[in-house]
Amino acid sequence: MLKTLNSFDLKNKRILIRVDFNVPLDGEKVVDNFRIKSVLPTIKTCLTGGASVVLMSHLGRPKGVKNSALSLMPVGEELAELLEMQIKFSHDCISEDARDVSFGLKAGEIHLLENLRFHKGETDNDVTFSAKLAKHGEIYINDAFGTAHRAHASNVGVTSFFNRKGIGILMEKEVRYLQSAIAKPKRPLVLILGGAKISGKLELIDKFLDEADSIIIGGGMAYTFLKSRGRDIGNSLLDESMLVIAKDIVSRARAKQVTLVFPSDVVIAENMDDASNRSIIRINEIPTDKMGLDIGPETVEKFSDIIQSAGTIVWNGPMGVFEVPGFEYGTKEVAESMAIAKEKGATVIVGGGDTAAAVEKFGLTKQMSHVSTGGGASLELLSGKSLPALSKME
Ligand code: AMP
Repeated sequence: MLKTLNSFDLKNKRILIRVDFNVPLDGEKVVDNFRIKSVLPTIKTCLTGGASVVLMSHLGRPKGVKNSALSLMPVGEELAELLEMQIKFSHDCISEDARDVSFGLKAGEIHLLENLRFHKGETDNDVTFSAKLAKHGEIYINDAFGTAHRAHASNVGVTSFFNRKGIGILMEKEVRYLQSAIAKPKRPLVLILGGAKISGKLELIDKFLDEADSIIIGGGMAYTFLKSRGRDIGNSLLDESMLVIAKDIVSRARAKQVTLVFPSDVVIAENMDDASNRSIIRINEIPTDKMGLDIGPETVEKFSDIIQSAGTIVWNGPMGVFEVPGFEYGTKEVAESMAIAKEKGATVIVGGGDTAAAVEKFGLTKQMSHVSTGGGASLELLSGKSLPALSKME
């Protein structure tokens, strides 16, 4: 059984929390603080419970080398602003100085450690590095869902050094929605898939072919499916290596009586950087020199009808190139439709990564039942796999 934060007596304890502060930075500033805000309930619960807190995270891929562009300092500043309090910061997560700062913490104080991945020991899951990290706390809490599918020192190795260990409030919510809600879903259960690649989502598709009532397929990946059924897709995104697999998915869906739903109209243009000459066209009429870059209004209506009569909806992958103005319409409409479905009582779950970024961009994060903070981890949990960081805590 996984222990949760509320099963510990926090008073006067030093809590070492693995958080996921792997956030986008624009030079010295945090561009998107969604992951930082998501972990605030755990931090605040520890502080109000009379504990002190040591936070550790990775940022980017410095590959064991110190890199000032990937320092967690700007994250510390953002966190200090969000919590309206001062935060202690150490420039090396395992130095003696850093350990002394942790030992000297008073109840209600926070100490943020520098990027774990400045040491190779983090991704190598090195025992000596894990032991040094463990010295920072008396209780270990993992609230970093985004890295839970990796076996690293700060989320797997470190756990061997603690008797008192458990998961934070965010991790608890991620597991509740991505595992439990899918195990016994309110029906109909609908999976919405989009984005560019089919390859990373095959296990998710396999799982939902067994569980879902319908699977909606939009975004760039839809064109490989359409091509596999002999349709002309013009210059749209095509993954030739997935053609046979896409065909197989369609026939398995038929056999399992899972409805597959594809776009019927699309927004096309010559390239994905420029929407100024875009037009809307039926899906089977895309000219050879144009690419489908968003779903069209008829498709939006069709998808929305399915979404709004669903009991549980899981969404992974944008419907178009939402990052470019002019191609964000379909993704925005689907997000709004999800919000309406939730109002009507459905459970609406958004997988992490690009889809979470899109929902946040449209200001709809709060309107969802759950927006996952982890891309790869959410895919793995939804696919029914166990995550190394969670297995180690049971
Ligand atoms: P993925 O990582 O596979 O979920 O892909 C996400 C990316 O897919 C986003 O950056 C979107 O811009 C991109 N995308 C969505 N729809 C299309 C499309 N029709 N053509 C090309 N790229 C797309």
